[in-house]
Amino acid sequence: MKTAIYPGSFDPVTLGHYDIIERSSQIFDRVIVGVLKNHAKSPLFSASERVKMLEDVTAGLPNVEARSFNGLLIDFVRQNKASVIVRGLRAITDFEYELQLAQMNRVIAPEIDTLFLTTNLKYAYLSSSTVKEVARYGGDISAFLDPGVAKLVAAKYASVSR
Ligand code: ADP
Repeated sequence: MKTAIYPGSFDPVTLGHYDIIERSSQIFDRVIVGVLKNHAKSPLFSASERVKMLEDVTAGLPNVEARSFNGLLIDFVRQNKASVIVRGLRAITDFEYELQLAQMNRVIAPEIDTLFLTTNLKYAYLSSSTVKEVARYGGDISAFLDPGVAKLVAAKYASVSR
């Protein structure tokens, strides 16, 4: 059984992330979406809220689950007996950082590989931070997110500005 980990912040999960999750689920027997807890950026949603959103949007993909994790990605990969890390590449700007990370992980854990999936062109411009920027000023975010997630993001900003 081949298990892959797709790690990230997912604050919140976008349609671009979902596209990578769905395609990974067709390649691997099992995909675990790893929600990073101790991220340098202070997140809009708690790790458990992000896990719940991921569980909801991936409910139709039976071989996908979501879990939060702390600390080193490689430790999380080993704990889950996975052998591949999946990352999405949007543009050349993602590449330098991703390459560095993949090479460093390969030195720490030579048995684990990183697989890059290039973005679906429809979502090449999409990032959680730009979606939050639009939502912060009350803009329409329905083209970027699952409808349930879009509602939660709008509600979060409504409660913050109240
Ligand atoms: P991180 O903070 O680790 O970059 P993100 O949640 O922003 O976490 O992204 C997780 C992964 O998803 C990264 O590999 C990122 O490059 C990828 N990703 C983000 N947005 C898209 C998108 N629109 N299309 C394809 N991949 C994406």
